[in-house]
Amino acid sequence: MGGIIVILLRKTTVKVPEMKFQPEKCRIPDQRMKPFIDADEIWDHINNAKPTMEEVRAVIAKSLNKQRLTLAETATLISADTPELIEEIKQGARRLKEMVYGNRIVLFAPLYIGNKCTNNCSYCGFRSTNKEAIRSTLEDRELVKEVEALQDNGQKRLILVYGEHPEYGPEYIAHTVKVVYGVKKGNGEIRRVNVNAAPLDIEGFRIVKESGIGTYQIFQETYHPEIYTHYHLGGKKRNYEYRLTSLDRAQEAGIDDVGIGALFGLYDWRFEVLALVRHTNHLEACYNVGPHTISFPRIQEASAMNFDGKYRVSDEEFTRLVAILRLAVPYTGLILTARENAAVRDEVMRFGVSQIDGGTKLELGSYSENKNEAQDLNREQFHINDSRSLNEIIDELLSTDYLPSFCTACYRLGRTGEHFMEFSVPGFIKRFCSPNAILTLTEYLEDYAPVATKEKGYKVIEENLVELEKAHEKINIPEIRSRIEKIKAGARDLYF
Ligand code: SAM
Ligand code: SF4
Repeated sequence: MGGIIVILLRKTTVKVPEMKFQPEKCRIPDQRMKPFIDADEIWDHINNAKPTMEEVRAVIAKSLNKQRLTLAETATLISADTPELIEEIKQGARRLKEMVYGNRIVLFAPLYIGNKCTNNCSYCGFRSTNKEAIRSTLEDRELVKEVEALQDNGQKRLILVYGEHPEYGPEYIAHTVKVVYGVKKGNGEIRRVNVNAAPLDIEGFRIVKESGIGTYQIFQETYHPEIYTHYHLGGKKRNYEYRLTSLDRAQEAGIDDVGIGALFGLYDWRFEVLALVRHTNHLEACYNVGPHTISFPRIQEASAMNFDGKYRVSDEEFTRLVAILRLAVPYTGLILTARENAAVRDEVMRFGVSQIDGGTKLELGSYSENKNEAQDLNREQFHINDSRSLNEIIDELLSTDYLPSFCTACYRLGRTGEHFMEFSVPGFIKRFCSPNAILTLTEYLEDYAPVATKEKGYKVIEENLVELEKAHEKINIPEIRSRIEKIKAGARDLYF
């Protein structure tokens, strides 16, 4: 406990406080690839939590003291349901974000590769029994066109999305990742490709890893075993335990950058929040590294969906649960998608969401066809509520004091555990993340932004440089300024 891990960064050494392991995680010596959810244990935590105001405040204070919360402490926050305490939890999340994360928001786009699917998930437009769905898989030349269109918008980070189908095996996924990395149009390039696809066996994950992916995301949808069976009516995905242990197999295959998530609305949100924390504990205990990101999609309308709405999560509950997650796992990246409307996005971004998608289109082939017509649910997995273009989102972020970022430096320099470093290495964000955000934003402003956004962007960059200068840490402001000038003169891909 309290030891120091030294991480070597290129030309830099930073001291990272060792993660504090919780006794709850070490109960059994080797839990790798074994199911780790005990539904009764989770409900006991929720039902037994009857905290006083002081206890809730003590838990918030612990998180603000940069310590990860236990299941019981997370249950304490979940049980705090008076308006006053809910507001204190949200305030706590906002403070944590301000103290630790600064004002960056990393941008990415999803790219649907194929919507054939042999599973029958009752909430999804791609389910096998949906005969209305128009099925297709991008051919390589279509994929190239899509990536060129995304590059023309300024995207640098993508998540490739696939149904579960024999055609989308590990070799195929790896192939599409390589095609995407190979596309270079003008100054455009995709520097980080993440994947959201079906669970694989260890060998399959190895094959995909070799293609150079960033994060492999798999959402458990619901962590409750019986409820899971209720929604997953056919196909391989029906196997709860195979999915639950999938990211263990990814770790065994050497993919240490994994993303977990739950589809909110399938079951009680309180259960899912605790289960996400349990999943985080499990990965930390077994692999010494928690998930890189947590996603918390809320269920949206989809073609042929069969969903009774009993556990639908209101906006109020949703913003509350994101604040609780922020406090519970303060060093894990949080991803928010265009499933949510602009107003909800705005509120939860204040709690320290680290990544959002921008300019999202879900219909296969729609980036290159530049389709703007109304969404067609027979062609898409589900309905989205934020259809703003990437530039509209960047413009809005710039107007509201955020620093949009396309940074991929940690991944490319082999600095794994970047969220943990951001969180725990003093000055890391000011020395690495903010300068890299500024440099990638400069590229965007030079290559893709309309004049008004460009002006706004350079103003925000100047304000951020002044703030960084005031920080009096070892930040080489002249070097950042010099790199900005180099980018203006045509250099690209400069990072710290
Ligand atoms: N087919 C793979 C799978 O199911 O894991 C990967 C891609 S799937 C298209 C990505 C995610 O979309 C799912 O894990 C699920 O959480 C989410 N999703 C499915 N239907 C949805 C809906 N109606 N509203 C919101 N999200 C949905
Ligand atoms: Fe297929 Fe994934 Fe949709 Fe389920 S969620 S039907 S596995 S695409």
